[in-house]
Amino acid sequence: MQDILDDIVATIGKSDDRGNVADYIPELAGVDPNQFGICVATTDGQVFSTGDSEQLFSIQSISKVFSLTVALGHLGDGVWKWVGREPSGDPFNSIVQLEHEHGKPRNPFINAGAIAIADAILMKRLPKEALAEILSFVRFIADDESICFDSKVAQSELDTGERNRALAHFMKAYGIVKQPVDYVLGTYFHHCAIAMNCRQLAQSGLFLAGDGRNPVTGVRVISSNRARRINSLMLMCGHYDGSGEFAFRVGLPGKSGVGGGILAVAPGKASIAVWSPGLDEVGNSKLGTAALERLVQKTGWSVFA
Ligand code: GLN
Repeated sequence: MQDILDDIVATIGKSDDRGNVADYIPELAGVDPNQFGICVATTDGQVFSTGDSEQLFSIQSISKVFSLTVALGHLGDGVWKWVGREPSGDPFNSIVQLEHEHGKPRNPFINAGAIAIADAILMKRLPKEALAEILSFVRFIADDESICFDSKVAQSELDTGERNRALAHFMKAYGIVKQPVDYVLGTYFHHCAIAMNCRQLAQSGLFLAGDGRNPVTGVRVISSNRARRINSLMLMCGHYDGSGEFAFRVGLPGKSGVGGGILAVAPGKASIAVWSPGLDEVGNSKLGTAALERLVQKTGWSVFA
């Protein structure tokens, strides 16, 4: 495994065709696109990493997997009143479908869906309580108390996130969002601004690779049924309108973020985190996707194998 990762960093990690860093969030616009890290945490407790795998980055939409898990913990199947579970085929920040579908987002991983999930978590909590809960959940699954929000990134989105504000108001008009829009967006922007490195992120996905149970510590996080459902949503919806392409090329449940990270789950085998800040046209890490494609070719880990 170490040889495979070293080869990926030496080849794909050095590519000149790196895509473009997300610049609609000013705080992310200045991230050096030449960084590249990857970490594989296996279900038998081994951790392999290389490149810039200790460098913190903004996990952005990868956090939507964690906020969904927290919401399912509170509401169970009640969550599906806020969001659906179909791929959108639209960009991550699109508003178009919302009007046709009466304000109910297609799935929890597009921006509208994750904003609706933040509203669901806020049902009986203040934003600071909801955020404390999401952060402590992430620290628990990653087994790392040092994980924090990057408040500069959160502030940068609060200052510029008019599109997300529009989505939230639109859903409020339909009664999907029920809490004050400022509370909902404050919660959403902050959980997107959690900073992690590839090692922490790979550790955090182990419960999804272990059928709901962290295979290393033995601690059950969620039921196996719920883990399978989250994995299936990641496969179908984790890369927005690039989800089909990701399933075709990589064949693993995965969730990307505009910070350039991707968390991928090889059920029963490993949790994988890769980070390269440059994005492709639909907002997924360009080299991160290529790295996962190569990793799966070498390991045969596709869920369709
Ligand atoms: N916080 C980002 C946004 O709302 C998340 C988008 C993403 O990572 N795709 O635009």
